[in-house]
Amino acid sequence: MVMEKAPAFSTLAIHAGAQPDPATGARATPIYQTTSYVFDDVDHAAALFNLETFGNIYTRIMNPTQAVLEERVAALEGGTAALAVASGHAAQCVIFHTLLSPGDEFVAARQLYGGSINQFNHAFKKFGWTVAWADADDISSFEQALSPNTKAIFIESIANPGGIVTDIEAIAKIAKTAGVPLIVDNTLATPYLCQAKAHGADIIVHSLTKFLGGHGNSVGGVIVDCGTFDWIGSGKYPTLSEPCESYNGIIFAETFGDFAFAIACRVLALRDLGPCISPFNAFLILTGIETLPLRLQAHSDNAAAVAAWLQTHDKVVWVNYAGLDGNRYQSLAKKYCPKGAGAVFTFGLQGGYEAGVNLVGKVNLFSHLANIGDTRSLIIHPASTTHSQLTPDQRRSAGAGDDVVRLSVGLEDKDDIIADLDQALAQI
Ligand SMILES: *Cc1c(COP(=O)(O)O)cnc(C)c1O
Repeated sequence: MVMEKAPAFSTLAIHAGAQPDPATGARATPIYQTTSYVFDDVDHAAALFNLETFGNIYTRIMNPTQAVLEERVAALEGGTAALAVASGHAAQCVIFHTLLSPGDEFVAARQLYGGSINQFNHAFKKFGWTVAWADADDISSFEQALSPNTKAIFIESIANPGGIVTDIEAIAKIAKTAGVPLIVDNTLATPYLCQAKAHGADIIVHSLTKFLGGHGNSVGGVIVDCGTFDWIGSGKYPTLSEPCESYNGIIFAETFGDFAFAIACRVLALRDLGPCISPFNAFLILTGIETLPLRLQAHSDNAAAVAAWLQTHDKVVWVNYAGLDGNRYQSLAKKYCPKGAGAVFTFGLQGGYEAGVNLVGKVNLFSHLANIGDTRSLIIHPASTTHSQLTPDQRRSAGAGDDVVRLSVGLEDKDDIIADLDQALAQI
């Protein structure tokens, strides 16, 4: 794409990374459903394996459909490069595998997707990585959680499930002073609502499963290298700044500069752990991204209308949507998500746990399921489902107490969405 001025977000959402297929002229990016790629000759093969030449070898490491997806997300986030993988959780695993060694620690906001809390507390422990929890509502807690072994800080821009907006810049400042990269999970906001790099993110991660794919049909994840962190100057990340045994002693940060992190994630963690994305999923997610600006604006506008309506309902005790007047996160939302506060928020019912379980059984248009970011409106009672493996304390502090119901407001007509909640609330 050759253009006079830098293309705007909605243009990038459709064009970044893509060109008509050189072999066939196909305008939509083809699904390159192949495991492997024929080498030009023996020298070419050797150069590919040494990282002297960059190119396709085997679909566990890269694939042309996946490559377009990666370039598109990197462009939308303003990063230097990206790596798409099998799921959001795989993306987190690959990031930490690249940054940490056994005995290392990282600090994470405790207001996170429930699955991330489990991954950090349990699965990561087996790798010898320790999470220290901080509180997104108390910035000083991030400083207090730091130790000499801290190698990263991890937050969500809009935190799942609570409708919490995180003060990214304040935490970025702490990361900078501590000399560690700030990782921002931008899944709920997407780059349309929140430009996390501009606020200090060094690495951005997404569950592509949610709003980027946007249609509830494919699981995927992506890592964006913002190209901002000085791996050599830091010296705390041997994978990036020391000679790599498995590639003839190359030093990633020297050879690949401001996209070294993305390359290391691909040719080490993805190569060896193996969670690659399928070309078909990459294609579906890429198609979803083409309408991201339209969808996210409509999701956000619908959510604002539904939240405002719920706030007036007798059986609703509280609504936590950062787009509402008077919400405690409203000023953070205006700063970090100026186009809207997203589609996911929580509210509390009179009648606590029972009422929550009851309500999800009474809706018709809403689907009762454990996902967010579908075109369809989704509802769940986190305490009895997504957050049920956490302790009651962890649940409360993650914004998933007994009375909490979470909505992911879809793209249906807002009056139909409200009418469905109205009839369900009338029955409880
Ligand atoms: C869903 C989700 C994840 C995990 O992604 P998967 O694609 O389900 O592995 C991580 N973070 C957030 C905020 C999510 O919503």
